Amino acid sequence: MALIVQKYGGTSVGNVERIQNVAKKVAQFVEDGHQVVVVLSAMSGETNRLTMMAKEMQTRPCKREMDVLLTTGEQVTIALLSMALQQRDCPAVSYTGWQVPIITDDAYSKARIEKIDGQKMLEQLALGKVVVVAGFQGVTIDGDITTLGRGGSDTTAVAIAAALNADECQIYTDVDGVYTTDPRVVPEAKRLDKITYDEMLELASLGAKVLQIRSVEFASKYKVPLRVLSSLKDGGGTLITSEENFKDNEMEQPLISGIAFSRDEAKLMILGVPDKPGVAYQILGPIADANIEIDMIIQNQGRDGTTDFTFTMSRLDAESALEILQKTANHLGAREVTMDDSIVKISMVGVGMKSHAGIASTMFKTLADNEINIQMIGTTEIKISVVIDEAYLEIAVQSLHEAFELDK
Ligand code: ASP
Ligand code: MG
Repeated sequence: MALIVQKYGGTSVGNVERIQNVAKKVAQFVEDGHQVVVVLSAMSGETNRLTMMAKEMQTRPCKREMDVLLTTGEQVTIALLSMALQQRDCPAVSYTGWQVPIITDDAYSKARIEKIDGQKMLEQLALGKVVVVAGFQGVTIDGDITTLGRGGSDTTAVAIAAALNADECQIYTDVDGVYTTDPRVVPEAKRLDKITYDEMLELASLGAKVLQIRSVEFASKYKVPLRVLSSLKDGGGTLITSEENFKDNEMEQPLISGIAFSRDEAKLMILGVPDKPGVAYQILGPIADANIEIDMIIQNQGRDGTTDFTFTMSRLDAESALEILQKTANHLGAREVTMDDSIVKISMVGVGMKSHAGIASTMFKTLADNEINIQMIGTTEIKISVVIDEAYLEIAVQSLHEAFELDK
């Protein structure tokens, strides 16, 4: 017998029939002798629908009221699932975030979970009931309703799994796991059986949008085994776990677990700035002050007392960053400022590369063989990223996928 926390996303509970389907699935786990806590999202589209109505009421909707409003979506699905379970003679009880309670700070719309009281849930499980909890919501110490940010139900599920010391946290969604890369770009992409938390964090932040990133951070911190799987298709999905849980030989094999990419990139260059202390700060400081996040940074070797600076950021921020940079350029007497918003970033991710040289050279050779120019390079212990022209994204990802035999 295991204690399992299962989370079903918006599409899985998108209508009455689908909720009945979830009930059937959950009841089967109970029949197999497991204890189950279910965490639900609102029906797909509901959170957006509520948000639109709020915007008709108030230009900038009050965040406290917004959270009171948005939490209703999940209250609907938990009650309906409990009913569907009861109808199947599977005892069940639903709880909103404040009934549990899931205590959060008071940062409306992006609250952080501070404490979960597991007692009520454990009592109900001991009585043989399925406990159905509303995802995405909590309550402050003072009794105000909060939400955890879009996609927050994933985090609720992981946090409950941690609080109850569950054997596994299963995230049921509309994809059947984490893939070596986006199957829309590489049809041969393979589902990964297992990856580490660190790899998942790198893949998630780079656009493999399977899980809310915070939920993976949470799982990693509390060592909650996390599994992503399809609510419609059978299969083992992808287990996200600690590096210790990989056998030595498994760890040796895949040097690269996946290739992530992001199309949402732009590059700014400032040429001919004085090569002296404090210049990097003068260039990047005002951009950081405008809350624009910089990703990769390169400073060229100085020549004749001047140097060039290149950095990347989200395409959405590029125009505002350019405006700021132009002011800095005038002030510093720089020669020129340029922007290129037709670039993409491709990253190879794998804990296996920690102990292996040669991954980077294979990557660069593969790109060279395809006549793809690398504009920038960045590395961490488990990741190598390159910036290239967006026209070559597909061919680059496909040829790297093949070169590293990720389809095998
Ligand atoms: N319903 C919320 C949202 O759409 C939370 C979730 O589904 O995880 O963001
Ligand atoms: Mg989601």
